[in-house]
Amino acid sequence: MTEWERQGETDCAQVVLRLFEYVDHEAADEDGRRIREHLDACGSCLREYERDLLLKELVKRACHREAAPETLRSQIMARISTIQVTTHVVREDPR
Ligand SMILES: [Zn+2]
Repeated sequence: MTEWERQGETDCAQVVLRLFEYVDHEAADEDGRRIREHLDACGSCLREYERDLLLKELVKRACHREAAPETLRSQIMARISTIQVTTHVVREDPR
């Protein structure tokens, strides 16, 4: 039983935490299916997903041009983590 099944639902925090993984692996497994369903229903997570896709594309292009500069990649990864943590906190507002 996965963490998600224990919680009984796919909430935004779970989706956002797994988005980058989802972008990377195209999500063929159960988690991916849940993420895709959630993205269909949740506009804010869909925007997160699109941003992650864009970032991934930027990393890919940068790697093509400059043979995978590790510093750039880790900088981008660090920024992604920061953005995700930030959006996370903002969404915690209970209403
Ligand atoms: Zn959501």
